Amino acid sequence: MVDTRAGVTPRGVAVLGSTGSIGTTALRVIARHPDRFRVSALTAFNNAPLLDEQARGLSPAFVGIVNGNGSESTRGWATGVGCLVDAVRRPDTDIVLNAIVGAAGLDATIAALEAGKRVALANKETLVLAGEIVTEAARRGGGEIVPVDSEHSAILQCIAGRPRADIRRVILTASGGPFRGWSREQLESATVDDALRHPTWQMGRKITVDSATLANKALEVIEAHFLFGLPYDRIEVVVHPQSVVHSMVEFVDGSVMAQLGAPSMELPVLYALTHPDRIEDAATPRFDPVAQSPLTFEPVAEDEFPALRLGFRAGIAGGAAPAVFNAANEEAVALFLDGKLEFPRIVEAIGSAMSELAGMSSATRDDLLAADAEARAHVAGRFGG
Ligand code: NAD
Ligand code: MG
Repeated sequence: MVDTRAGVTPRGVAVLGSTGSIGTTALRVIARHPDRFRVSALTAFNNAPLLDEQARGLSPAFVGIVNGNGSESTRGWATGVGCLVDAVRRPDTDIVLNAIVGAAGLDATIAALEAGKRVALANKETLVLAGEIVTEAARRGGGEIVPVDSEHSAILQCIAGRPRADIRRVILTASGGPFRGWSREQLESATVDDALRHPTWQMGRKITVDSATLANKALEVIEAHFLFGLPYDRIEVVVHPQSVVHSMVEFVDGSVMAQLGAPSMELPVLYALTHPDRIEDAATPRFDPVAQSPLTFEPVAEDEFPALRLGFRAGIAGGAAPAVFNAANEEAVALFLDGKLEFPRIVEAIGSAMSELAGMSSATRDDLLAADAEARAHVAGRFGG
């Protein structure tokens, strides 16, 4: 007998990075739809108390902590980096929500795609580091990557199944971050607190700093290239301070589609789970065009924020250059957050690593991880004090 009820069996979601900004948002969204989704696995780097609270509330079959401290609550949990791949390979995991920050999420993404699963991908660094290997893993294993990033979710929703040949270009919107309108002189003395004061989004510390340098938009340009198979001359960026238009797609007939909504990650997280379907979700904020107006657009101040240009350069160079860009940025942001590097030096460090490490091999995952390690060592050695 065929059961005609929709969503009979809730799909199992492994939430990697469940203690972070996207991870906690995802758990909130999933909790609203118990008929559709259940949490099969939770992982985090540390923060055992929060992970424990989540595990008690959701009772997933698998809990993993990369860096457990051996405390009482972690008993019975998987530990070490291997727990990430174990969480995604479980037969009760249908969807992997990868909300890990940084290159550390790579193997879990690859393993999930090889196993034919959907990866709801927030962890953009993974695609930047190894875009070809990740997309190849999806082809080989039959898995699919559905972006969580709001810009790429917007583009996916605008494309709505049309073939790539119909797309003339995509236009990613950027809020401009906390330093929009700052001069180069002002940026010299920008502090960590200044950088963490994002005008429109509440996010983890690393991506908040990336938004301040515009390295985030650079990563997103490369992410768009791999997700949608578009050459870099068909990817553009415009500053849109209100973060209401999440991105736009221009089609070959000149029609431009945009996706709009309040700046909240709940919708892109939900859509990454349900794509191409949509489900009723009364809790996502209602859109009020009058309250959101005016909506404005301006060009990127590329001289003040050179990270975007560097990102395009890395993307166009291809090979290991995006991996070097990403790793140098991760290392430099960590130094900045530790108070060991001034704000404008973050982008200097990326540029320095890119010139120093041009032409490294990118044939395999290990080659890319070697380029990643070299870039981190370069930045630590030259800029780390
Ligand atoms: P976050 O710092 O708030 O959370 C990161 C999570 O990853 C935590 O659960 C942490 O325990 C885990 N983690 C960190 N290092 C790890 C490691 N080495 N191994 C395993 N787990 C590790 O970060 P976030 O803001 O939630 O961002 C997560 C990802 O989503 C990033 O790639 C970011 O660029 C992307 N993203 C975030 C937002 C946002 O609104 N926060 C929006 C778009 C994209
Ligand atoms: Mg984004």
